[in-house]
Amino acid sequence: MMFNEFSASVEKTPCSRSGSDEPFRYVFDDSEFWRQIPAWRDLDADRFGDYNWQQRNAVTTVPKLVDALGDAVPPSLVQDIEKGLLRTRMNMRLTPYVFSRIDWANYPEDPIRKQFIPLGSQFQPDHPETLDDSLAEENNKVTPYLVHRYPDKALFLPITLCPVYCSFCTRSRVVGGSTAVKSKSTYGAKSLDWEETFEYVRNHPELEDIVISGGDALLLRPKQIRQIGLSLLGIPTVRRIRFATKGLAIMPMKFTSDTEWMDALSEVAQFGAERMKEVALHTHCNTDRELSAWTLRAMQAVSETGIRVRNQSVLISGVNDGFSCLHSTMRKLSRLLIEPYYLYLHDLVPACEHLRTTVRKAEELSLRLQGSMAGFNTPRVVCDAPGGGGKRDISSYLAYDEEIGISAWTSPTAKPGKVFYYYDPIHLLPENGQALWKKESQIRDRLNIFKKEAESNV
Ligand code: SF4
Repeated sequence: MMFNEFSASVEKTPCSRSGSDEPFRYVFDDSEFWRQIPAWRDLDADRFGDYNWQQRNAVTTVPKLVDALGDAVPPSLVQDIEKGLLRTRMNMRLTPYVFSRIDWANYPEDPIRKQFIPLGSQFQPDHPETLDDSLAEENNKVTPYLVHRYPDKALFLPITLCPVYCSFCTRSRVVGGSTAVKSKSTYGAKSLDWEETFEYVRNHPELEDIVISGGDALLLRPKQIRQIGLSLLGIPTVRRIRFATKGLAIMPMKFTSDTEWMDALSEVAQFGAERMKEVALHTHCNTDRELSAWTLRAMQAVSETGIRVRNQSVLISGVNDGFSCLHSTMRKLSRLLIEPYYLYLHDLVPACEHLRTTVRKAEELSLRLQGSMAGFNTPRVVCDAPGGGGKRDISSYLAYDEEIGISAWTSPTAKPGKVFYYYDPIHLLPENGQALWKKESQIRDRLNIFKKEAESNV
């Protein structure tokens, strides 16, 4: 089989056609698309739809990728991935579901491949202002597992493992195990250690919202889902909890084939409903290519539990940074009863310059999305201000110098008086701006002038 033969088996959507002006359609691929992968050509839907099989057959190494794709893999692709793995901070891990959503005939530009499989040829040098912990979570840790930054909300990180690893992960400092360029203290779920965290929440009645993230809740055991859900909802002052999982985008069969896990989630939702408390899932789908008839079936199962589902996407260059792709993705999510909630400007994390885009691009997309669908289905496009400023509306910057790619943001409620700075990728700046970043003293002077002016306006 040659790579160009794969193409016919993969459903094309606006997110797989650059610059597409295709009219929007509600299509959820119900074909046996995984059979395009030579290793899974004879696999039936029952096996493919088993979450255990999906987990056991994750593609985690170059030899496994070659085994799956067979003779069709060009040696140049193998070399490019090997080079990419020497630069990335995230290990390679794809479920067969998401691996077979890649259009291998067009792998250099494929929006799914770009999210999970690094190619050395596509990297750009890091921006000098990238940050290991761009959202300053470590500074706000109050227990080994709890980040408390906002007055009424806290972030519980019980696990730093996921069923897939995204090249652009904002917690690349800790999630997904060490790589050639980053050593990490990744941890699995240790339920015996969580009591200190529950005790902290009990002792802080101002905490109403608890986000359970990581890592991915999909890898928590059913008894851990119960332990976390029932412990937190049992605290009178906690009003809402949300489990963060990418599962609906990368392993939707978990929701239809792991009945024990779904029962645990359902029990937590019921416990919450009886106390008039919200239990939500926050998922992370970036393109409509991640959605298929498997997602539709998964959402039918989730809907029966009464759990609310919201989506948080990341705006990624060459993946979903076009109106048609975003519009189609958000419409399809809405059809599945998944509320498009946030679209994040890519965080300033290392080894991701090729995946980031500019504030201006995000702002233009935000303006086009507004009015293209119902307001409650239109995602809020935000910049999570580096250094802990929190989510700021994309057009709410205090100042923006597009030539050198710096924008200033304030956070009057969370951090009054403080100014936060976001930096556009240098390779996307106008020529003059790119040249300035090559001259250290000139760029320093220009940045200082910008910051002085911005701070004088606070
Ligand atoms: S699923 Fe979330 S936490 Fe896991 S690697 Fe992807 S972005 Fe990071």
